[in-house]
Amino acid sequence: MTFKSIDLPGHEGFAAPVLPNGEPAPSAGVFTRTFVGYQAGCSCGWADRRKYPATPAGAKEVEYRWWSRHATPLLAAAPPGELVIKSNLLCERISKLIAERPVAALTLLSQLETWQRALLEQAVAGARQSGASWSEVGEAMGISKQSAHERFRAHVST
Ligand SMILES: [Zn+2]
Repeated sequence: MTFKSIDLPGHEGFAAPVLPNGEPAPSAGVFTRTFVGYQAGCSCGWADRRKYPATPAGAKEVEYRWWSRHATPLLAAAPPGELVIKSNLLCERISKLIAERPVAALTLLSQLETWQRALLEQAVAGARQSGASWSEVGEAMGISKQSAHERFRAHVST
């Protein structure tokens, strides 16, 4: 049995059987007659260490664990899907514009760069003010904690 959210592609949670030696079974769907409990796991590689009984109630608790410890924080950090779609569409349209009218694309991309940089600095400042660490800021941007700090520390008061 697996659990997932349509808003989290690439993440499918499962109750991983725990073997008698305390180790999780190597992958989801592995059948073993000797498992002694369940642990929450996810197709992305995330694994929880907490063990639950090898019962239907234990499996239900694992599902709740996947939601509370893994899916919910990921959903909270994900941008709204509707904005992701618009952003991807804008990227596609500008790529076409570059092919058809490269000078017009240059003007548009320069404008976009100006407001993008300002918004990025605002977003970093807002994230820091709401308690996000430099690690979390870097992770959200796909860069290291050190890179995030070096690039934005001048724009953030903390
Ligand atoms: Zn996952």
